[in-house]
Amino acid sequence: MADKHRGTCFCGSVEVEATSAPLEMGYCHCASCRHYSGAPLSPYLLWRAEDVTVTKGADLLGRFNKTGMSDRQHCIRCGGHVLTSHPGMGLTDVRPPVLPGVAFEPTVHLNYAEAVLPIRDGLAKLKDFPAHAGGSGETVPE
Ligand SMILES: [Zn+2]
Ligand SMILES: [Zn+2]
Repeated sequence: MADKHRGTCFCGSVEVEATSAPLEMGYCHCASCRHYSGAPLSPYLLWRAEDVTVTKGADLLGRFNKTGMSDRQHCIRCGGHVLTSHPGMGLTDVRPPVLPGVAFEPTVHLNYAEAVLPIRDGLAKLKDFPAHAGGSGETVPE
């Protein structure tokens, strides 16, 4: 039986369901994520796109795709971030608070070369993205 996780945006208008387990959990430090979220880093749960479904309020999702890689989606009622789909990769990031039943256990920091807030948690710090995702796969010091 597959795991099912459900949750909502900040106001509850948009409902999301995810099945199975995230492929990866971590933080992105890139300038785009920081600027979009207003935070010094951006936590994510990464899933196969087909494992994430918006079950209510899909018509309330505002979308913005600045680079063509990341279709960032938020609730137009409350402004809360919901998810970011990466159509070219078949992947979807969900903001961890949207799926509170998933224990957030990050394993990696992405785009740490752009970090403005150093995090000394002993986890891998990738310069950009993993090699399997088209990045350099290089690590940088904390
Ligand atoms: Zn909302
Ligand atoms: Zn980012």
